[in-house]
Amino acid sequence: MDPLIAVVGATGTGKSKLAVDLASRFNGEIINGDAMQMYRGLPIITNQIPVDERNGIPHHLLSCIDLDAEAWRIGNFKREALRLIEDIRSRGKLPILVGGTHYYTQAVLFKDQLVGEGADEEGEPEPGKELESTSQKWPILDAEPEIMLEKLREVDPVMAARWHPRDGRKIRRSLEIYLKTGRPASEIYKKQMSQKEEAVQKEEGLLRFNTLVFWVHAEKKILNARLDARVDDMVEQGLMCEAQKMSDYIHEKQSQGVEVDQTRGVWVSIGFKELAPYFEAVRNGDLSEKELENLRRTSLESIRTATRQYGTSQVKWIRNKLWRALSESGKTRCLYLLDSSNVSEWKNCITEPSEQLVQKLLQNEPTPDPKSLSELATAEFSAKEAQGRVKAQTEILKCYTCDHCKKTMSGEDQWNIHINGHPHRRVLRAAKKKAQRDAYFRQKEMEEKQSHIFKPDS
Ligand SMILES: [Zn+2]
Repeated sequence: MDPLIAVVGATGTGKSKLAVDLASRFNGEIINGDAMQMYRGLPIITNQIPVDERNGIPHHLLSCIDLDAEAWRIGNFKREALRLIEDIRSRGKLPILVGGTHYYTQAVLFKDQLVGEGADEEGEPEPGKELESTSQKWPILDAEPEIMLEKLREVDPVMAARWHPRDGRKIRRSLEIYLKTGRPASEIYKKQMSQKEEAVQKEEGLLRFNTLVFWVHAEKKILNARLDARVDDMVEQGLMCEAQKMSDYIHEKQSQGVEVDQTRGVWVSIGFKELAPYFEAVRNGDLSEKELENLRRTSLESIRTATRQYGTSQVKWIRNKLWRALSESGKTRCLYLLDSSNVSEWKNCITEPSEQLVQKLLQNEPTPDPKSLSELATAEFSAKEAQGRVKAQTEILKCYTCDHCKKTMSGEDQWNIHINGHPHRRVLRAAKKKAQRDAYFRQKEMEEKQSHIFKPDS
């Protein structure tokens, strides 16, 4: 029955702790799904669980790549994680995936066809990495949207019809897929979609495994306060020292004539990039003590802000992308929210309910309604469920432009909503009135002309 436990949630909610709890209780091993925690030697900046809190549980893909390595691509991560899951199971143990990097988690949880648009294995850009190398090879990818669109109309009219003429990013992406693979992106998506549709119809579902996903969550205010406090904590534990080490590494490389690309890999991790200007200033030595201290302070403040934003984006992913993917396969009941707002209630709110759920999964018993776990869970899921099941998208949407309103929208559904909506009808009514008015004046004008021509002599 291939069980898999996944733990997701914003940074700072206690995902790693829950994973260790569950692994200890159910003879499990942990697979790290956080791109930055894969880097070696930076336990504080990347927020790794300290060794003495791991309770002797094996942690895979943690602290395993060097500073100068690129962050793993999705395909790479997926392959390795799936291999590890097999391996852990073959030893009679329970695999537990703990992920902060959402697209890693998604690629492991769901079968390939769900990866879908814009995220196919080959073309998926790494975090922070743009497609500079491909535009060197195909300069048209740097052209204005209209020029790219013209080319796209030639090679892939279906995708060309899909995008708004000004949406350069998407036009570029479709064109890039064609240039790289020699096949129109629309063809590739069509195949993926029909595979997806087949899987849904066969009821075999789109999840790879018998999965339980725990979402460790907290009210936003509480979470933000906790994240702020964590930055102070990190400083105490030696954040500056680690960042200094990274800065020295870059400097050393530079002195050897090697330019380190700081727009990717570990260099974009929160904590380092905010402090980089500070260390640069220390090295240059042209700031006073007081100015340096100010710079240090503002850098730390930026770390706090960036951490909060990151937390917010992670929650957004769960609410939108993960929910959508689960909903498409009719599996939203696999997602359990655990309320970690009150840390002193960890045992009641997190440990006990999660253990009961894993127990049920392993014994193949039905699991309860996710809404029943807490008030926060009820609030979160009720609204989502009211929206109904998300239908799997099985066709490539087309862009429609309303000439009256000068608006472009994607997909027939959006188009129907638009043409039946009040704003559009108001514009139509106004246009109709104007047309009537114009016709009236034209008529008048005509009558006047005629009256001149046929004016009877008096
Ligand atoms: Zn309109």
